[in-house]
Amino acid sequence: VTALFAESALLPEGWARDVRVSIGPDGDIAGIDTGAEPGEAERLAGPILPGMPNLHSHAFQRAMAGLTECSSGTGEDFWSWRQAMYRFLAVLQPEHIRAIAAQLYLEMVKAGYTAVGEFHYLHHDRDGAPYADRASTSLALIEAAQEVGIGLTLLPTLYQANGFDGVPPEAGQRRFIDTVDGILRLIEQLRQRTGADPQLRIGLALHSLRAVPADALAEAVAGLRTMDASAPIHIHVAEQLREVEECVAWSGQRPVAWLLDHAPVDETWCLVHATHMDESETTRLAAARAVAGLCPTTEANLGDGFFPLLQFLAAGGRWGIGSDSHVSVNPIEELRWLEYGRRLRLRRRAVSTGGRPGSTGCALWHGAVEGGRQALARPVGRLATGSRADLVVLNTEAPTLYGKVEDALLDSFIFAGSPALVRDVMIGGRWVVRQGRHAAQERIDAAFRGTLDQILRT
Ligand SMILES: [Zn+2]
Repeated sequence: VTALFAESALLPEGWARDVRVSIGPDGDIAGIDTGAEPGEAERLAGPILPGMPNLHSHAFQRAMAGLTECSSGTGEDFWSWRQAMYRFLAVLQPEHIRAIAAQLYLEMVKAGYTAVGEFHYLHHDRDGAPYADRASTSLALIEAAQEVGIGLTLLPTLYQANGFDGVPPEAGQRRFIDTVDGILRLIEQLRQRTGADPQLRIGLALHSLRAVPADALAEAVAGLRTMDASAPIHIHVAEQLREVEECVAWSGQRPVAWLLDHAPVDETWCLVHATHMDESETTRLAAARAVAGLCPTTEANLGDGFFPLLQFLAAGGRWGIGSDSHVSVNPIEELRWLEYGRRLRLRRRAVSTGGRPGSTGCALWHGAVEGGRQALARPVGRLATGSRADLVVLNTEAPTLYGKVEDALLDSFIFAGSPALVRDVMIGGRWVVRQGRHAAQERIDAAFRGTLDQILRT
């Protein structure tokens, strides 16, 4: 057992002073003592926060971030962005995915993300044929996460159609397409190959209601449950108004309402975006105890719309954050945008506290770590006994944080700070970032540059 000592720590019940964290050989927190003496424990350089889970990622999209911001003059939207994304991913091979993911995960840990949910639909070779090893691209993501040391919830994704009612896929989607049986076999294979690694969890994603017909959705969920009763299930839903209209035309129901009526949505589910919900859908989703996976910078970048946060919070809804397309790899920017979007709309401040007294930053960080813990189905996001030892040490020598403590410190980090204030990061009891540096940084950077040289040339 190793031990750490922090003068200040954000525990699930709030800020505590003189905190001793004992860590077992398995990387779990073995005990937390407050008002403690440091003894022989390692004294940390600043206050500690629970590391932030990032519940929604498509790793390969990091390499195209910033390349889709030019207008063709014909009206850019989500759907034209999607065509650009298909053109980009058409050249990627497993070794490229590995290098891009390692660079992305490196940026994540340096910014304070300590776990990631990879919504992974790029399964097959460029012509759509399976690789000799069907798990090739999945293993590329697992290796990247292991190289960096970030915790991973891998969600192999079922994708079958290009629209409601089983519209056949287009050429740009052929690398995603699989049968229910194919996805379930991939999940089984990954579970066997990766064993009981505490840094890894395998779940399932259903790409969306437009990409997964109703019978395939039911079959995939039932098949997953025979392997793992509590494995996480993620789905993109109600991100775009066009998708809502098409769902109504197909079924007579809005997407979230359809899903709540036709799928066993419970606390193992994460509904990513859920942007366009009416009042009844919002309260019903909260009551189902599923997590709303919010990706504010991507949703802003793609022009999706506003999630009904206030009503969802009032109904006791659970939520977490994801960096999705990775136009930003920075948890404080996601949290800040979540709050600022509502301030601009409502002309009010401190919206994310849900009307309760207290720090906005604290409400944001606490909400996002709890929702992320649930969505990733790993014991993360809490400085508490039995949770993974995933924590972030802030640099209080920096001008933005100097002289500030507790709520004022966290509010300053989120509303006035940047990832540069993350000093040290521990994941699963291992230091992965020390004084802002990762041990494999040069190697990972070089591999990423080599990959960009190849794919941007093609
Ligand atoms: Zn997504």
